[in-house]
Amino acid sequence: MDIPFTAQEGQLFEHIARAAKSLGVPCYLIGGFVRDKILERKTKDIDIVCVGDGIALAHRTAALLDPGISVAFFKNFGTAQIRWQDVEVEFVGARRESYRANSRKPEVEVGTLEDDQDRRDFTINALAISLNEADYGKLIDPFGGQEDLANKLIRTPLEPERTFSDDPLRMMRGIRFASQLHFTILPETFDAIRKNADRIKIVSQERISDELNKIMLSPKPSVGLDLLYKSGLLKIIFPQMVDLVGVETMDGKGHKDNFYHTLQVIDNISRHTNDLWLRWAALLHDIGKPATKRFEDGHGWTFHGHDAVGGKMVPRIFTRLKLPLNEKMKLVRKLVELHLRPISLTKENITDSAIRRLLFDAGDDIEALMMLCEADITSKNKAKVKRYLENFELVRERLKDVEEKDRIRNWQPPITGEMIMETFALQPCRQVGDLKTAIREAILDGVIENSYEAAYQYMLEKAKELNLTPVK
Ligand code: ATP
Repeated sequence: MDIPFTAQEGQLFEHIARAAKSLGVPCYLIGGFVRDKILERKTKDIDIVCVGDGIALAHRTAALLDPGISVAFFKNFGTAQIRWQDVEVEFVGARRESYRANSRKPEVEVGTLEDDQDRRDFTINALAISLNEADYGKLIDPFGGQEDLANKLIRTPLEPERTFSDDPLRMMRGIRFASQLHFTILPETFDAIRKNADRIKIVSQERISDELNKIMLSPKPSVGLDLLYKSGLLKIIFPQMVDLVGVETMDGKGHKDNFYHTLQVIDNISRHTNDLWLRWAALLHDIGKPATKRFEDGHGWTFHGHDAVGGKMVPRIFTRLKLPLNEKMKLVRKLVELHLRPISLTKENITDSAIRRLLFDAGDDIEALMMLCEADITSKNKAKVKRYLENFELVRERLKDVEEKDRIRNWQPPITGEMIMETFALQPCRQVGDLKTAIREAILDGVIENSYEAAYQYMLEKAKELNLTPVK
């Protein structure tokens, strides 16, 4: 098969081939690079496997390409990397692996190309291309990977039970590839994932979350998330999501299945943004629903307060999944907490102060919040969807008008906590916070004007009620 290398790749591979020839070691392109080339996807790092010393091959290649290039190598692992122009190339000697039950770290021995292909996780990742003079450019495909690429199939090269039991991370990888590439996992391969799901417990949380994030970033994350659920993996790695599954009926009234609703919301938002954290906000927006679910006579199912409860769950979930506990987590929490607010602004007779309040609470994330709310519309009724979207369009217009008028988004009240402490000779205490909040609320409600003078007068009045006297 003729694989079209770019001019840069062609130049690079000729140098690697020359280096390998001079060392007398056969060498091959292998793994994700070959897969992505055949799929005509954007390729990332290049992996080279040689039957011999990978570190020596990296040094020889670097010397031929440009003696200025440095080689990063890890003697213990027998791997080496070079960076040439904007490409990263990793070299490794072909190896054979054997596993023990309690670890996903194999015993490694020197092996042949065939051994090296045997240890690969999926047929589509086991493809190699020769860089040797005799058959330069030839595809070496012992497991029918090319056919699986054409048929969009994920299949293990060897017996699937063994493959997943040896290294259970492969279960997450398989589902991730299915989601990224929109491929189907062969039924017997998927069965083996289901049977070995429990083995995921020996994999580090960082690795699991890394794969989960890749699923979240795939074009249609619902594909991977649903497979995680159906395989039993989700229950182990993220049980709160599984709590969303199912429909309960009382007095003939059901509620929607919040799991599948959530998957649709992620797919919806993913059409508009590649931002991982906005996608996480979509995943978690209803996470507080199981804990707040009630059946109220006359009303049916309610989930009162699921926004606030869900918001509180965000830091706990991020901690458990070892996701960053930084401003990204805070953004997700804020969006979960605020996700019902724009809907409440679609009613009639909404005051400017309600709009100001949302602008103040959402700040610069108002656009992200509106995007989440629009993604949250999952009705199958086209007329309803149209009406909801039009309502949000009106909210957007009001937000724009009020922002232009009042500049609330990044606004801070004109009187700060320090000013209050100085005026009344106070140490940091509850009264300072109360006064500060009262001033902010009065401005947001339009009770007083947004100016230093008005805020100062208002502070004096409120302070009197608290028996505070200004010292200056
Ligand atoms: P991506 O770059 O999108 O993560 P990739 O397949 O290139 O996909 P890498 O993690 O870079 O992923 O791995 C490179 C190659 O190494 C894979 O194509 C596969 O052949 C092999 N590989 C990686 N991880 C495993 C694993 N856990 N078990 C078996 N083979 C693996």
